[in-house]
Amino acid sequence: MADGFAPAFAFTPEVDAATASVWSKVKTRISPLEWRAHAPLIEAINRLKREKNAVVLAHNYMTPEIFHGVGDYVGDSLGLAREAARSDARVIVQAGVHFMAETSKVLAPDKTVLIPDLRAGCSLASSITGADVRLIKQRYPGVPVVTYVNTTAEVKAETDICCTSANAVQVVEAAAAAWGTDRVILIPDEFLARNVARQTDVKIIAWRGRCEVHERFTAEDILELKAAYPEAQVLAHPECPTEVIAVSDFTGSTAAMSDFVATRRPKQVVLITECSMADNVAGDAPETEFVRPCNLCPHMKRITLQNIYDCLLNDRYEVRVDPAMAERARLAVQRMIDLPPPARPARYDLVKARHHVDVELI
Ligand code: SF4
Repeated sequence: MADGFAPAFAFTPEVDAATASVWSKVKTRISPLEWRAHAPLIEAINRLKREKNAVVLAHNYMTPEIFHGVGDYVGDSLGLAREAARSDARVIVQAGVHFMAETSKVLAPDKTVLIPDLRAGCSLASSITGADVRLIKQRYPGVPVVTYVNTTAEVKAETDICCTSANAVQVVEAAAAAWGTDRVILIPDEFLARNVARQTDVKIIAWRGRCEVHERFTAEDILELKAAYPEAQVLAHPECPTEVIAVSDFTGSTAAMSDFVATRRPKQVVLITECSMADNVAGDAPETEFVRPCNLCPHMKRITLQNIYDCLLNDRYEVRVDPAMAERARLAVQRMIDLPPPARPARYDLVKARHHVDVELI
């Protein structure tokens, strides 16, 4: 079929039957009218995946019809990249943003990695370049560079070791010990760096990158929420400002938030992160009430069922990473993977913080 000429999709009894289990998970978040448009695309994408030996890796911030409807693996960016490496599929479709597709390509170099919309970027990843990191290393010789996974392959290639929001404290301490230094460069998220600095004796040198979704939350937002919903548990992502973390009940990665809801089953919860996160966790926690607010990530929202279908149908857009760069980036990610799992997930809990020291901002 020629590029751009997709068939018309109808909500037939066959489509209804094939997608009934997905509908049961999303029906509290999607109207019946919207579902009649989504279900035929979900059925068509799942058929195309089988025909092309493809899998869809869906980030926690994808909309529920993508997350529950076509995601073969769902989770945070690193979890998805590890699945990319483990999968037997020939084609990986990254339902997420561009740096995530690059990380999948870095960890699965022999597979074809596609992204449905090349414009799906990230304010954090675009805040820093490989050239910036080279300059930082010149300014701080001998100080190890720890880079958050939310970065381009070019930046990871200049890095000593990667970290996620779940293991950043552990990685910073391991890097300081391995390099025999009391300072570590932790880039590019300023707020993640500030939150980590309060949990460790290691001095942190930070960059001024920010996630445009999480930086917009304020402590006042949280205090107003707590006054309005005194029973609600407030869970915040560590890319939020430190003042937000200080007044939240729990702070952790998207995976840690999902785990919190799955294991503690709170009656009411507020997820201080991207809006689709609550929609997706709600599909598996029907007895928990999810209270807004949340913020939308415009980059994540570029990914739709329609462009996932088009991407699979037309084998576009392929994400490539220069092999030599990928090799260096893979080493930084592998060093993190090789660390023993942390004794407990990082919580960034300022009430129990060991320090109130700040970071050195570059
Ligand atoms: S939520 Fe923030 S870190 Fe994630 S893709 Fe959007 S801008 Fe980037």
